Amino acid sequence: MSVCQSTQLKAFNTFSISARAEHIGIATSIESLLSLWQEAMRKDHPILLLGGGSNILLTENFNGTVILNRILGIDIKESDTAWHIHVGAGENWHELITHLLKQQIHGLENLALIPGNVGSAPIQNIGAYGIEFKHVCEYVDFVELKTGNSIRLMTNECQFAYRDSIFKHQYKDGYAITAVGLRLNKEWEPTLTYGGLAQFSREDVTPEQIFNTVCEMRQSKLPDPAVMANAGSFFKNPIVSTELAQKIQSEYPDCPQYHNEHSVKIAAGWLIDQCHLKGYSIGDAAVHTKQALVLINKGNATGQDIVTLAAYVHNKVAEKFNIFLEPEVRFIGSEGEIDAVECIS
Ligand SMILES: Cc1cc2nc3c(=O)[nH]c(=O)nc-3n(C[C@H](O)[C@H](O)[C@H](O)COP(=O)(O)OP(=O)(O)OC[C@H]3O[C@@H](n4cnc5c(N)ncnc54)[C@H](O)[C@@H]3O)c2cc1C
Repeated sequence: MSVCQSTQLKAFNTFSISARAEHIGIATSIESLLSLWQEAMRKDHPILLLGGGSNILLTENFNGTVILNRILGIDIKESDTAWHIHVGAGENWHELITHLLKQQIHGLENLALIPGNVGSAPIQNIGAYGIEFKHVCEYVDFVELKTGNSIRLMTNECQFAYRDSIFKHQYKDGYAITAVGLRLNKEWEPTLTYGGLAQFSREDVTPEQIFNTVCEMRQSKLPDPAVMANAGSFFKNPIVSTELAQKIQSEYPDCPQYHNEHSVKIAAGWLIDQCHLKGYSIGDAAVHTKQALVLINKGNATGQDIVTLAAYVHNKVAEKFNIFLEPEVRFIGSEGEIDAVECIS
């Protein structure tokens, strides 16, 4: 366990919002995590666990202890048909993928360059280019902070759904993910359904080609938080009824829609773009000029500036399409997570 001298959180969130905590601790093991948690309890502090801080919006100062999860370790085992990889929650997600690629272990290429830590991946079931975390997950290990008990949930117990899992509901507070188990088939099958990957043929594409193409596509489409502070897609793609989707399609034939059995997912970025909001700004908070789904901090935006902008975007889309966008980003208030939908409605 170690303690940060600073209490400034700007370096620990990719939105680069300037906000303070009472205390910042770094957990490098389950023991240190529990001891930081107990210390915070003694001080009556609320607790915020953070990985890479790439999916949060700090709306104000945090009146408690922030614990940075830095539990490391990658342990690879094999069975006849698969690789079984046990990964510490504090490992960086993208670095894990490059590490495995170098060892000829494939299956995570479509998820390259998603920022953040391995331990956060199950929480919103990260996904990109046709693959979601649930497709590669074998289990998730976490500790219940109150009791110190270690619990393992197998993938079918995690209630994975689009940007959702049991960790956003039943285990919302008082737990920390400490490791995940991945299962990657030795017989590699490419997933080429999305975007620029459809150009490849299943017969001769290599995992390296997919990895490189995904990295190129992401770098050309999404602003790098190190250059332009942001938290990726700010809103989830809304899932609407088939009737509403058809109505929109008849008025706007170019509206990107992804059909499921009873519902349709619509591209939130397209909806925002139709409201002509690219580049719209409030203070230093702005809608990105090229990618309408991304809100950025141009320098000195406060968390409240981003909330005000998000509410403006939400209202404009609601007025035009009768669709109510929900944030994908988690909003953190002075005592912990707050209801993001309520904040912008
Ligand atoms: C440029 C950019 C592109 C992105 N692209 C994608 C994408 O393509 N697909 C996608 O799904 N996401 C994407 N994201 C979102 C983000 O990368 C993921 O949600 C990622 O998994 C967040 O990881 P993190 O470690 O930064 O989480 P954090 O922001 O640190 O934490 C997120 C939430 O999880 C909680 N938490 C963190 N660690 C733990 C733990 N160990 N135990 C319990 N709770 C914990 C936090 O309290 C917080 O509520 C993108 C973000 C950015 C900035």
